[in-house]
Amino acid sequence: MDPSIFDTGKRPVWCPGCGNYSILLALRKALAELEINPERVMIVTGIGCHGRMSEYMKTNTFHTIHGRVLPLATGIKLANPDLLVIGHSGDGDAYAIGMGHFPHAARRNIDIKLIVHDNMIFGLTTGQVTPTTPIGVKTRSTPFGNFEQPLNPILLALASGATFVARGFSGEVEHLKELFKEAIKHRGFAFIDVLQPCVTFYNTYTILRQKVYKLEDTGHDPTDFERAVKLASETERIPIGIFYRINRPILEDAFLHAMNPPPALRQKPADIRKILERF
Ligand code: SF4
Repeated sequence: MDPSIFDTGKRPVWCPGCGNYSILLALRKALAELEINPERVMIVTGIGCHGRMSEYMKTNTFHTIHGRVLPLATGIKLANPDLLVIGHSGDGDAYAIGMGHFPHAARRNIDIKLIVHDNMIFGLTTGQVTPTTPIGVKTRSTPFGNFEQPLNPILLALASGATFVARGFSGEVEHLKELFKEAIKHRGFAFIDVLQPCVTFYNTYTILRQKVYKLEDTGHDPTDFERAVKLASETERIPIGIFYRINRPILEDAFLHAMNPPPALRQKPADIRKILERF
């Protein structure tokens, strides 16, 4: 399948060099290589520069309010289990405003994919600090340098019970495409934090290119939880790839089972006469 089948024809308005272009390209390629019918795909986006993904992907799309990608995606998936639901969020959208939803989607193991465009800055609002901005970085809202300890999204996902946890880099498009393909094939909540430089307000390309390395090259076993935690805690170098992947029952199975229990588990209809006899 040609990736252009997912192209709406609209010219992206992101700044030249923005990491969002690579994420868009990698996603289109991943879907095309898996030969997924665009009609079966639902993209949900939040508020931020990433939100324009819903304009550029020729699939079903829903551009929701700030921080609410996961509740929307959850509702859509439960109502339409056959859809492939992919949530896109930014580090501000997912880890600040929408943070309350993240650990719950992970522990429930609903079969949706969450791609976080993590540029460690609020880009759309012109460069304020987010929960993943490193200590010391000067932004418009931290003119003396950020003094807050940044959040570690990979560790958080692991601690929350996510069954697929990965990190990508927008400077490695083919690698990112493969991560997206694996996430789409995973049955359960698949989380990918994508390091995506914001060339206008926090350009991290040089430092990321120096520090990033691929987990596949190290022989990492993605079923090894303790090793995944250690790798997620690394700071000197930055691993990309699949940290952790296991199989666990998904929320939809339990939900559909509750809605349509087998005959042996169905409750008998209440006998209204017996209830009235109590009064
Ligand atoms: Fe990309 Fe940053 Fe420009 Fe937004 S402000 S489009 S994140 S480079």
